[in-house]
Order: sequence, then C-alpha cells, then structure tokens
Amino acid sequence: MSYLMNNYTRIPVKFIRGKGVFLYDEKGIEYLDFISGIGVNSLGHSHPRLIEVIKSQSEKLIHVSNLFENPWQEELAEKLVKEFHASAKVFFCNSGTESVEAALKLARKYWKDKGKNKWRFVSFEKSFHGRTYGSLSATGQPNLHTGFEPMVPGFSYAKLNDIDSVYKLIDDETAGIIIEVIQGEGGVNEASKRFLEELQNLVEDKNILLIIDEVQTGIGRTGKFFAYQHFNLTPHIITLAKGLGGGAPIGAVLAVDEVAESFSPGSHGSTFGGNPLACSVASVVVDEVRNILPHVKEVGRYFKEKLISLNKGKVKGKGLMLGLETDTECKEIVLKAVENGLVINCTAGKVLRFLPPLIVEKKHVDMAIDILRKIL
Ligand SMILES: *Cc1c(COP(=O)(O)O)cnc(C)c1O
Repeated sequence: MSYLMNNYTRIPVKFIRGKGVFLYDEKGIEYLDFISGIGVNSLGHSHPRLIEVIKSQSEKLIHVSNLFENPWQEELAEKLVKEFHASAKVFFCNSGTESVEAALKLARKYWKDKGKNKWRFVSFEKSFHGRTYGSLSATGQPNLHTGFEPMVPGFSYAKLNDIDSVYKLIDDETAGIIIEVIQGEGGVNEASKRFLEELQNLVEDKNILLIIDEVQTGIGRTGKFFAYQHFNLTPHIITLAKGLGGGAPIGAVLAVDEVAESFSPGSHGSTFGGNPLACSVASVVVDEVRNILPHVKEVGRYFKEKLISLNKGKVKGKGLMLGLETDTECKEIVLKAVENGLVINCTAGKVLRFLPPLIVEKKHVDMAIDILRKIL
C-alpha cells in the first residue's frame, strides 16, 4: 500500500546514498550510476564543493522572494550569458517544463510587442519538452497527449532531419521553432549538421525565433557547454534545467537582449525561481563543468567506441549523452543491468540510454561495458 499516485513504474531498488559515480542501496550494494537522475547529477553524488556550498548557503539564506534583489541570480546569470551570447538575459525557474513554458510565452510576447500576429510554433516528432500544457503541446509524441486533450492551439510537428517538412508547416503566423539538437526522451536522435544549417537559414529567411531546448543536452552533457555549439547555430532563446543544478531543482531561459526585453515587470514570474540555494549550487556546477569539458569529450569518445565495439546495435549521441538502439524492447535489459550493478535507462522502447555523471572516468566506462557485454 502506498500513498503515492501511481505515475511511475519504479525499479525495486532503494538507493540511500551516493558517492561520485556510485550509488548504494539499503543493503550496502554498490551500483555504477550511468543515468545520473536523468542527466541531473552532472557532478556525481556527494561532490565536496556541492556539499560545502549547500551547507554554507543554507546557513545564510535559503529563499528570498523575487520582490527583492538577488545577487545569487545575478552571479549565475552572468556566468550563463558568457557561455551563450554577447548580450543576453536570463529568467530563472525550477524545472525543464517551466523553462519551456517561459520560452514559449516570451516568443509570443516578443511578436505581440512588435505588432505582429505570430503565435504558432513548429516542433518535431518524437520531441520531448515537458508535461505542463504549453510544453506538452510542443512535445511531438501523441501518446503523451492522450487523455489530456485539448492541447494548446498553435503547435505542429515536423520531421527531424527533413527540412521540407519544416517549410511545409511555416506560415506568416509562425512565431518560433523549438528543437532539441539531440532528442533525449525520443531515443537519443541526433539532428544532422546539414539539417541544422538549413534550419538556421530558414529562421533567418522567414523571420522566426529559434528556440533550442537544452534542458537535457546543456551544461556540458555533450562535450560543449551547450549542445548547439557543435553547430553553426545562433538561437534566440535556449532552455536549461536538468544538469544545471547538479541535483538542486533549477531551470533557466536565456534569450538575446532584443527578445528578452519583452518580459517586463508582471509579464511572467516564479515564487521559487532562482532562489539563493539553487543559484549558489548551480553557480558551482557551472564553474566545475567549464573546467571538465575536454574530459567529457574524451571519455565520451572512449565510451562511444566501446559501445560500438560491443556490436549490439546502432550507437547514437555525443559526449556523455549516448544511446544504444537494440532490436527488442529494452526494459528487461535495464532490469538485468541493475541486478548486475549498473544503473541505466531505456527510452523510446528500444534505446538504452546512458547519461553518466560528467566526472565519470574511463575505468568506470570499462566496468559498465563489462556488465553490458555480460548481459546483452
Ligand atoms: C526532461 C526534459 C524536459 C522537462 O524537464 P522537467 O524538469 O522534467 O520538467 C524538457 N525538455 C527536455 C529536452 C527534457 O529532456
């Protein structure tokens, strides 16, 4: 008997602590964590600098409302903007879905302020942008809409890597295109370089905002600070969450100044968004991640080669966001992996997904590969 609503199928393991890339259950059994809370624990578990900042900040101030000045937000915003654009601004919230909501609202408001009737959005089949109504409407997975209709009006879905399918959905009322450069929940599907370049041309030609959802791919996950930086892309808006707080709940929207200006006092807000505790933790995460990007690239490359050498299916993804497409449903494999001390996850039915902490080392990759070889 449980008092929890039955939203999740839970794997019957109780983790009670973690250290680095390892998790421990109540019996003291050790597990290699290759999912990191779905890309959240970017610095692994019990990172000394995170413990230290949580202790010291919680002794000073955990929360202050957005009615007052917030130097912790200022500090973190400056760090994020420096990675993004010469002149941009940040809005803080608490999760991925909220960051997408804010991005959609900002995009519509921007065009309204310009006196243009542009309010529609194009997103992609198999995309995932969150579970609240705006972000769910942007999500191109009909099965996630079922039972919750009607969706927010104005969304249509193109095919990833098919630029014609995007052009077909564009009209004078299109406000923005929202895309993950690697679809996470949809099965670690990479947008091709060529497609993204065509998309960049399209948004410039048609005067449309480019919104890149970096909730999963951002903050070093793919080996660049933001995943769009692998390509020749200049998004107007990006959304962040998951890895940003290293486990502290925080989300953010970054927008170039011209667009950001459309949020003015009263336009949008959040009670918890960007509180001192979350921001001071995220600030440490950002500092640490900036220093380990070459490491992410190197271990990511090593891991990808090892996965390919298993010869068990198509290997997809970049950096430490990798997928192995199996030819059968992979739920059973995940259970077997956990029984053997490796925590991974299955997405889009047949794709084993790997999102280890960014501090993972080659020796941990070797351990994971040994377990995978044994169970596959
Ligand atoms: C996880 C995810 C979201 C939603 O984030 P939540 O924090 O669960 O609301 C949005 N977009 C992408 C790309 C994601 O991977």
